[in-house]
Amino acid sequence: MSEFDYDLFVIGAGSGGVRAARTAAATGARVAVAEDRYLGGTCVNVGCVPKKLYSYAAHFHDSFEDAGGFGWNLPEAPTFDWATLRDNKIGEIKRLNGIYGRLLDNAGVRLINGRASVVDAHHVSVGGETISAEKILVAVGGWPWVPDFPGKELTLDSNRVFDLDSFPERFLVLGGGYIAVEFASIFNGLGSDTHLIYRGDLFLRGFDQEVREFTRDEMAKKGVNLHFGTNIETIEKVEGGLKVTLTSGETLEVDAVLAATGRRPHLEGLGLDKLDVATSDDGKLKINERFETSVPSILALGDVTDGPELTPVALEEAMKLVEHHFGDTTPAPLDYERIATAVFCHPNIGTVGLSEEAARERFDAIRVYSADFRPMKHTLSGSSERCLMKLIVDDASDVVVGAHMVGDEAGEVIQGIAIAVRAGLTKAQFDQTVGIHPTGAEEFVTMRTPTRN
Ligand code: NDP
Repeated sequence: MSEFDYDLFVIGAGSGGVRAARTAAATGARVAVAEDRYLGGTCVNVGCVPKKLYSYAAHFHDSFEDAGGFGWNLPEAPTFDWATLRDNKIGEIKRLNGIYGRLLDNAGVRLINGRASVVDAHHVSVGGETISAEKILVAVGGWPWVPDFPGKELTLDSNRVFDLDSFPERFLVLGGGYIAVEFASIFNGLGSDTHLIYRGDLFLRGFDQEVREFTRDEMAKKGVNLHFGTNIETIEKVEGGLKVTLTSGETLEVDAVLAATGRRPHLEGLGLDKLDVATSDDGKLKINERFETSVPSILALGDVTDGPELTPVALEEAMKLVEHHFGDTTPAPLDYERIATAVFCHPNIGTVGLSEEAARERFDAIRVYSADFRPMKHTLSGSSERCLMKLIVDDASDVVVGAHMVGDEAGEVIQGIAIAVRAGLTKAQFDQTVGIHPTGAEEFVTMRTPTRN
């Protein structure tokens, strides 16, 4: 009989924590999870899931406009009701919270409602109870971070933007990352007069340059007011709204300001500082390939560690962690390089592997194949939306090292392409694949002439 109350104590019932708890329990381990907020973490409650639902809602705007060219007459201009969307979303999230609870229950995992803190390498304290565990997993995720400026307290963060009491007719988002471009597109699509403020020359730093420029042009065409090379200096409450003064001197009056300026590990009050658990410069927990922190019985995964802050990454890490600590085999390390990702701005971005710029640095010579075209649907819809597809090939090996798309359902398309890129297929093998006609995605197997070398 083990000297500990549990084999694994998980702090945080988000995507990674729940997956690790269930999978470990399935191996026969005795597992408990502590959660002080909501089951499912950021993704289910204030991230991927509600964001995608709102993105669907925003896409209807284009669909209504596109319908006319196909013969549909809408009897009157459609109107949008924020409360219906928000409340339907709340109902769906409640349903998902329940599913997560049942998953843990069915797996035999004890769920404790409360914020746990680490007492020492093998003890946690939660709700006045001290519990011992052979291993403690910190899966507490991240929390929105907002820089200091006068009026910062008047901003919303991505935890609060979903549940606004009233719809912001004038909306401003600060930042140039995933959350900023996604919410700019969402509120623009839902009908807000939308501004995006980004301190650099062009948003989505780290993405392929051509993808960034193309997305900028498409978002601007859809009506998002893009302000680059500036930042928020102050925000003041004024009659009927908020006055935002930018460092460029420009002022804007809006109803809501979303600060989408990144997320930080949610480690406050967790007690890890007392144990001197090693962190990187940005405060993330340092781990080895077995997901062990500098205190080996304390494990960590997901957004609280240094890797892509993406749900599927946390899920995969959870599976690997359980294999390492409760399985019989040593799993292959996770390949963090060729992880596909989508940004649900409008139009969507899907991407896997290297950008053109990163590939130029990595390889002696590359070939770039790209297509920038008007999707067939828009020959009748009247929309000027275009689509970009792009493959980056290492010239010496002919291997496709990057694939990028900006266009309708780019995430869906790139998910398929990601298998080929992950498998290290060559451009010749892409070319041997017969296309599906008529689709936009067939461009990925029919681009024959390099756009540039
Ligand atoms: P990101 O780190 O992606 O972007 C933060 C943005 O804020 C950057 O543009 C950054 O600018 C800017 N910024 C940082 N500090 C300041 C400052 N002091 N003043 C002004 N601007 C500043 O964070 P997000 O909040 O957008 O998202 C967090 C993470 O969540 C993402 O990285 C992503 O991994 C994940 N996510 C994934 C989604 C998906 O899979 N579709 C959707 C949403 C989030 P700069 O670039 O100049 O540093």
